Amino acid sequence: MKLTDVLDGTRIAAGGLKDFAKGIVHPTLRLGVTGLSRSGKTVFITALVHALLKSARLPVFEAHARGRITRCYFEPQPDDDLPRFTYENHLEALTGEQRRWPESTRRISQLRLTIEYEPQGLIARNLHGGKLHLDIIDYPGEWLLDLPLMSQSYAQWSAGTVAASRKTPRSTHARDWHEYLVALDSSAPADEQKALKASELFTGYLSRCRQDDVSLSTLPPGRFLMPGDLAGSPALSFAPLDVTPQYLPEAGSLAALMARRYDAYVSKIVKPFYFGHFARLDRQIVLVDVLSALNAGPAAVSDLKAALSATMSSFRIGANSIASNIFGRRVERVLFAATKADLLHHTSHNRLENILRVLVEDATHRADFTGATHDVAALAAIRATREATITRKGEDLACIVGTPQAGEEIGGLNFDGTGEAAIFPGDLPEDATAALDGSLEGQLKFVRFRPPLVKDTTFPHVRLDRAIEFLIGDRFA
Ligand code: GDP
Repeated sequence: MKLTDVLDGTRIAAGGLKDFAKGIVHPTLRLGVTGLSRSGKTVFITALVHALLKSARLPVFEAHARGRITRCYFEPQPDDDLPRFTYENHLEALTGEQRRWPESTRRISQLRLTIEYEPQGLIARNLHGGKLHLDIIDYPGEWLLDLPLMSQSYAQWSAGTVAASRKTPRSTHARDWHEYLVALDSSAPADEQKALKASELFTGYLSRCRQDDVSLSTLPPGRFLMPGDLAGSPALSFAPLDVTPQYLPEAGSLAALMARRYDAYVSKIVKPFYFGHFARLDRQIVLVDVLSALNAGPAAVSDLKAALSATMSSFRIGANSIASNIFGRRVERVLFAATKADLLHHTSHNRLENILRVLVEDATHRADFTGATHDVAALAAIRATREATITRKGEDLACIVGTPQAGEEIGGLNFDGTGEAAIFPGDLPEDATAALDGSLEGQLKFVRFRPPLVKDTTFPHVRLDRAIEFLIGDRFA
């Protein structure tokens, strides 16, 4: 163990202790909501908060279904250094005249919801009278995938990143960057313009790998794709060089400049996020756009699996006992959720869940994940579709019906965002492992539907209540 590990551990312990002391008087649950961009974080948080504030139908959320939740309201968030999750703007987008999906997550934000309830136990009733602060922390999943960088040197990261970029399908998208990379001499004198150009081309490669048709997941450094407040900052002007994992940059060289910036990225961006926010979470939901990966093909699926595996090794083992509160907090429950299940007929919802289960189970076999309770779910935080059966050429097709967004196209048919359409999205196979071999590539037909029309009511959803029960249900004893 290195001295920095001990110091970092102490930092967690200090944060944990402070949270723990506060938690005795005011029970608080810090719920992290993450997932790669477009996985559905903003929609999930908006729907979750709306459902609790408006007392939606949530039969599987037991305390709620039994009428023990008495009041829900916003309170000022505890961390003054974080922006507030702009719930009101997101709700306005969904329910306003235009009925559109809200602006996606681009940085970390927070919201505190206080939930009052009738406690069951005598102690709870006397101690805190049935009040829970639910602190929801929304952050890009890209940042979570940066945590392994804390244990890699610049040379190790460079070698791994360059090697991965030489395999298909990454190599196709890395051409411009590779052309520039071969001309770069790592031991030549440091050159700012070369560092900038390399970082620009490398970022271009990462974004191409993230596009819908490629849909790769593990593309660190996360701030290159999701810079948050660091857009355009010099902290992001580095890139990998073609060096061996053992390479030691010479002072004053291009490699030394890159390595210095990489180290600064890890110590000034990755570590503060880890110790300041991530390590203080109690519960976590990881949203996963499984459908896009299935549709993009086997490379996207196996990359998603690798990303889930990396995500899991970030969650430290164990439950939030008093000891772990003092010696460092632990995420106690993690829910992996396949989002946008409403894009499939309900006959495929369990199948979607099983596919995610297979992807996650592979990764949970790793020893470092035992301890935190985890589960998987297929859900739609906001259901934009209904179901219908259509008979075509004597065959019954299980379809979904909704209003496709303007500009969407399927089978040569263009939609203008006004009329409804019935679409047969395709079926998921019964055998989950069969979905992972790439046979579904391009088989699923998705269009983006507009959000449902809700007037003074709550949003329809698929299994949102199950997710809530798993994530926070036990805290209403
Ligand atoms: P974020 O980047 O993780 O914050 O993702 P968003 O929450 O902004 O979601 C990205 C897009 O996915 C939205 O604009 C919607 O088009 C779609 N989406 C998210 N959740 C749902 C859902 O529950 N149902 C449907 N049909 N689409 C969803």
